[in-house]
Amino acid sequence: MPAKAVTLTVPELTFWERIYLVEVAKGLFRTMSHLLRNLLPTLKTDAYALFGKLPPAGERSIPTIYYPEEKRNYSNRFRGRHILKKRADDTLRCVACYMCQTACPADCIDIVAGEHPVLAYEKYPVKFEIDLLRCVMCGFCVDACPKDAIWMTRDYELSFFDRKSAVYGIPELTEKPGDTAEGGPGYGYRPYYGASPMRKAGEFQPSGLALMPFLDLRNKAINRMPAPAAPPAAPPAAKPAA
Ligand code: SF4
Ligand code: SF4
Repeated sequence: MPAKAVTLTVPELTFWERIYLVEVAKGLFRTMSHLLRNLLPTLKTDAYALFGKLPPAGERSIPTIYYPEEKRNYSNRFRGRHILKKRADDTLRCVACYMCQTACPADCIDIVAGEHPVLAYEKYPVKFEIDLLRCVMCGFCVDACPKDAIWMTRDYELSFFDRKSAVYGIPELTEKPGDTAEGGPGYGYRPYYGASPMRKAGEFQPSGLALMPFLDLRNKAINRMPAPAAPPAAPPAAKPAA
């Protein structure tokens, strides 16, 4: 197939376009107009606030949040700092299965598993660290956890003086009463809350008894394969000649 020639016409630049002065002036004018458009209403809002008043309804104002006295109200789908949940016997629910570490797209979870003294728990995290400077707060770890052991809070006030203090270990991650207390951050968004098969099967207990219905369900799922076909009937034995 022959190549198709395309002719492009480059428009000639005018004198003013070639020295760029008009373009620079146009850009500066646009920037200044945005600055003044936003600055004047902000100053007006601050002037009203000085006298403890709100600007009249309908007047354009730029809301200013006086942090930290005022906090931004994020949406219900917000997710912040992680927490590790505990069982009723005060042990961590985490069984160091590495599912969250595997699901993490930022590769910021570091777990070392150990053998739990309670036989029914099998494993527990000797080390569980999250590098919060690498975390992108996607919540994949929460969704991946089969034990409902890692949740996220609505705490976004994460500031660190050095890289090392941004790596949270078990002491920092373990849920504290203040996380859900009045005025605390509360729990973050969990899209699959209530839908997890493990949640439906109930909490995992040291006795292992509460786990039985789940094992039963899993067994049924494994056995959902069709039964093998019955072997063909053996042909009738030939009668011996008289
Ligand atoms: S929220 Fe996302 S990035 Fe952060 S630790 Fe969990 S899976 Fe990794
Ligand atoms: S997925 Fe859950 S149980 Fe498994 S290691 Fe992570 S927090 Fe622990």
